Amino acid sequence: HSSMELDIRIMPYADNQYLLVAQDVTQLRKLERMRKDFVANVSHELKTPLTVMQGYLEMLEDPERMPVKQLHKAIGDMQSQTERMQNMVSQLLELSRIESSSPDSFSHEVNVSQLIATVLREVELLNAEKQHHIDLDLDADLSVYGSEEKLRTVIMNLVNNAIKYTPSGGELRISWKRKRLGAEFAIKDNGPGIAAKHQQRLTERFYRVDKDRNSATGGTGLGLSIVKHALDYHRSHLQLYSIEGQGSRFSFLLPSELVVSAKPDSE
Ligand code: ADP
Repeated sequence: HSSMELDIRIMPYADNQYLLVAQDVTQLRKLERMRKDFVANVSHELKTPLTVMQGYLEMLEDPERMPVKQLHKAIGDMQSQTERMQNMVSQLLELSRIESSSPDSFSHEVNVSQLIATVLREVELLNAEKQHHIDLDLDADLSVYGSEEKLRTVIMNLVNNAIKYTPSGGELRISWKRKRLGAEFAIKDNGPGIAAKHQQRLTERFYRVDKDRNSATGGTGLGLSIVKHALDYHRSHLQLYSIEGQGSRFSFLLPSELVVSAKPDSE
């Protein structure tokens, strides 16, 4: 339990009378702290690649003293650090765009099965490297009212993570189905899974389960916070079922009011 934070002021009321005004600022202070943490995190995350780059640039000032092999490594490292910063900045922009968008009238129909197919085409190369077997169970006629762009972002991030974190030759299963309370998207993998103590915190910005393990995969820890906000927009939220060492199942349910009801038969 955290304690309540109060802002207390004394205001003149009438002759020789004062009013004691106490305002609960717990929520306000919490938001302020989150904003400060966020700025500190961004600065820290950008500082590390910049320091690496600066070190190499200093070495390159005197290229004669640098063996060719080391030169290639320096250039390669600088390229991947630049790419990392680029990814981070574009994810931060995406996050702020999604956070500040207010829900529209949801008049646009999104065919989620087609969206899944598009995402799978885009990750074909990545998946070819990992040789995962991807099993699909999709209801092709099930459409929803929503933002195509945001749903694409959600699905892309979840598919990308499943491919990235599951060791080569894994089994992935993607489903899109009508449920009693709406339409559910799910992706299941047989990767490393996520320990219970991390599960609650995954959608926090910059949160990564294991920084060392994931530094090779180049993650920023922003993907799932983008997913969270894009799902908030659709009055939905991310669900996770995972057992460490066995795999993960990420899913979300779009509420019934967003499901496009089946067109009546023309007969
Ligand atoms: P990142 O850029 O690090 O991938 P995300 O916000 O997308 O950031 O994910 C946060 C963390 O959640 C990841 O760093 C990883 O530790 C964990 N994670 C996400 N998806 C999976 C998955 N399918 N299997 C195991 N761990 C996962």
